[in-house]
Amino acid sequence: MNLAALRHNLRRVRALVQPGVAVLAVVKADAYGHGAAEAARVFVEAGAWGLGVSSVTEALELRRAGLRAPIIVLGGVFAGEEPEVAAADLEIALWDADRARALAAAGRSVRVHLKIDTGMTRLGLDLAAVHEFGELVRGLGGLEIAGVFSHFASADAVDTAAAHAQATRFAGALEALAAVGIRPPHVHLANSAAVLSAPAAHFTMVRPGIMLYGYPPAPHLAARADVRPAMRFATRITQLRRVPAGTPVSYAGTFVTARPSTIATLPVGYADGYHRLASNRARVMVRGRHAPVAGRVCMDHTMVDVTDVDGVRAGDPVVLFGDGPGADELAAWCETIPYEMLTAVGKRVPRVHVEEFADA
Ligand SMILES: *Cc1c(COP(=O)(O)O)cnc(C)c1O
Repeated sequence: MNLAALRHNLRRVRALVQPGVAVLAVVKADAYGHGAAEAARVFVEAGAWGLGVSSVTEALELRRAGLRAPIIVLGGVFAGEEPEVAAADLEIALWDADRARALAAAGRSVRVHLKIDTGMTRLGLDLAAVHEFGELVRGLGGLEIAGVFSHFASADAVDTAAAHAQATRFAGALEALAAVGIRPPHVHLANSAAVLSAPAAHFTMVRPGIMLYGYPPAPHLAARADVRPAMRFATRITQLRRVPAGTPVSYAGTFVTARPSTIATLPVGYADGYHRLASNRARVMVRGRHAPVAGRVCMDHTMVDVTDVDGVRAGDPVVLFGDGPGADELAAWCETIPYEMLTAVGKRVPRVHVEEFADA
């Protein structure tokens, strides 16, 4: 992981929002696979107000790693976790009356962020229920309404109509709360796509994820994002062999050499997050040349055709994504999105954090 790239990307977000707008760096899913504690430290030092995670478990890991910055648990709290939320001083997404009562009874005053569903149909309050729920939470005592928020379903679309409709519904929820005197200090709606495309939706805080890791949420937002990939997924050639034309490679022999070929075996497979859909589709980078994946990706191994790579040797470094193919290119070959390529990188792949890649 390239720490300088993470820092650059956080600064890009800062440059895209007004000075008074807080940045909640989203570090859920182990910071999109980059190592949550390390990434969180870089973001906080570079000016993030706080950290966004999905679960209480993820938040407690950050606290154990020594991070003292505000943490908002965007996915809410499971029944039974309320005392830990209070003890670890976490801020929590809230839309459920039972959880509200349990949090209010958890000891110290817990900061909550009312979650409104404005069109994602995932988590949150229906618009019609917003003001009543706000009054219930206020009436409980023991809870501080620190924020109100919602999440965009399609802010990355070229057509912004659906995102506009969501922003309008969100404004309606803010009005409903204001009508009963609830005006939380933090109001947040913008993911990376909205950081880039919807300044009117920045409110008091933005919640970027993917762009902090160096990928635009959609190709049409790439130029404005101007971010650098922070992860390089790399390995080395474990074995190299010359084979004649007509040689089947990997399970089921879906690739058969058309000429005398040099096949390299890489010690990375789908168990490491190198997707099986990359079989016969993706390319890797060896000695500055692209080499195609030959045959099926296995659990622990992948073969690539390096016939056209001059001077290739066993032990040569190979880039699966990062520079050479980006995680977005690999995602396109695998019919998915860069988010999944980054977060899929497996537990047994060691994370190495450096200030800057030596050969970048
Ligand atoms: C993951 C997530 C984000 C960040 O989204 P990106 O598209 O990665 O910027 C923001 N808010 C919530 C609620 C999320 O779940």
